[in-house]
Amino acid sequence: MQNWIGGVEKLDVLKRVPIKEQEPIERIHNFDEVCLGYTPDEAAREAQRCLECKNAPCVKGCPVEVKIPEFIRLIKEKKFKESYLKILETNLLPAICGRVCPQETQCEQNCVRGIKGEPIAIGKLERFVADWFRQNCEFEFSKPQPNGRKVAIIGSGPAGLSCASSLAKMGYEVTIFEAFHKLGGVLYYGIPEFRLPKEVVEWEIENLKKMGVEFRTNMIFGKTFDLEDLKQEGFDAVFISSGAGLPNFLNIEGELLNGIYSANEFLTRINLMKAYKFPEYDTPIKLGKKVGVIGGGNVAMDAARVARRLGSDVYILYRRTEAEMPARKEEIMHAKEEGIKIVELVSPVRFIGDESGHVRALELVKMKLSDPDSSGRRSVKPVDGSNFVFEADNFIVAIGQSPNPLVKKAIPDLELNPNGSIKVDENLMTNIEGVFAGGDIVTGAATVILAMGMGKKAAESIDRYLNAKKHENL
Ligand SMILES: Cc1cc2nc3c(=O)[nH]c(=O)nc-3n(C[C@H](O)[C@H](O)[C@H](O)COP(=O)(O)OP(=O)(O)OC[C@H]3O[C@@H](n4cnc5c(N)ncnc54)[C@H](O)[C@@H]3O)c2cc1C
Ligand code: SF4
Repeated sequence: MQNWIGGVEKLDVLKRVPIKEQEPIERIHNFDEVCLGYTPDEAAREAQRCLECKNAPCVKGCPVEVKIPEFIRLIKEKKFKESYLKILETNLLPAICGRVCPQETQCEQNCVRGIKGEPIAIGKLERFVADWFRQNCEFEFSKPQPNGRKVAIIGSGPAGLSCASSLAKMGYEVTIFEAFHKLGGVLYYGIPEFRLPKEVVEWEIENLKKMGVEFRTNMIFGKTFDLEDLKQEGFDAVFISSGAGLPNFLNIEGELLNGIYSANEFLTRINLMKAYKFPEYDTPIKLGKKVGVIGGGNVAMDAARVARRLGSDVYILYRRTEAEMPARKEEIMHAKEEGIKIVELVSPVRFIGDESGHVRALELVKMKLSDPDSSGRRSVKPVDGSNFVFEADNFIVAIGQSPNPLVKKAIPDLELNPNGSIKVDENLMTNIEGVFAGGDIVTGAATVILAMGMGKKAAESIDRYLNAKKHENL
């Protein structure tokens, strides 16, 4: 135990300063954010626990190398604006990353404080300064001298947004083309309000507009425009960041019955179309009393927690055990607190419907985990004769997403990997000169911070490529 500033309050250096959350009983009736964030005093107390390590292992765990000890020291000194600007040097979207990054497997996993006690709450501190800045300061940006070159970006998810911001800072004229009527990609249509309020996403996008980035919505690459149109408009390079938004299906009997949603459709109705406010908004959503969600990732958790808020009893049906679930631990904990049940070691066999064509049940088979192989991974296999029927009014399929084939249709010569993702070189350039790609369309479904990191790297590559071309033309 040590005294905190002036010895007024005691700070247990091994324990995190607790953060307030909405109570589960209350939050299952609304879509408001679950985590209520630190107050300035709480943030300064948590920052006080940081050792300001010289070699800062936390920074090595961050894909965009946020200057963690530096921004935390500024919180200790209650210089919140300076702290925000410090994060901004390497991370464009701190209010978003502080909320959705899996810090427990990145920066916080490496934190020296975590050896004996609880690691510093780096994500919660990042989110605190970003929120404080949003509520208390005006975003100012001094525009650089325009360099006269134009870059087109396809898709307004984290990869596209981070590429746009880096290029705008270098003086490029940047236009983002987005298929939907709203901007932000998965940040808008995938991750629900109770984890990432849309006003936060909108604020970050407004800042990009202030930096001079132009946005064109309802523009579908491969349908409403193509590479030739971009050339005609005088774009010097293109960055494709169209994500991995094509839902995977189980391909089992009965999957076309009514009442079965892909998580993608379900979450899009909720987040993008605000179906939970029907009839105030036009788009409906219909769920019965009992819902089964198939999958164990972040998407499955989000779908389950949304279904709970619509008043259903929710069961997550997962092939492995809770310990192997790829979803963030915090999300699994929140889901369980909200009364969502996890049924482990089950795999879908076929959906069963009624005479009206509506789903009524899912036949499942029990699974068994093998011993870990040499890589430590445990495979699963069905237990013969263990089939049983799980009755529910609706099912939501959340077993992953793949890249949409539309981009390939629009550029037939574009080289793809066997899984349909775009093939790029070490500079993130595709086999088509001047066309770069990054984010989930290259990696397959991954994370916000990795998509952002690739957007930034692509911006640097585009700049190098266009500078080299300029010299060739001299
Ligand atoms: C429900 C859900 C929850 C998630 N939770 C987390 C989390 O907690 N933490 C985390 O780190 N990651 C999470 N992820 C993953 C993360 O959101 C993605 O890895 C990230 O958004 C990928 O960014 P991106 O820019 O590559 O693509 P996206 O965010 O998918 O953006 C692509 C954009 O391109 C647009 N587009 C597609 N095709 C075209 C076209 N032909 N023309 C024009 N525009 C087009 C799309 O409409 C979209 O706006 C989650 C994903 C989902 C679906
Ligand atoms: S490793 Fe932990 S204690 Fe050390 S500088 Fe990073 S956040 Fe602070």
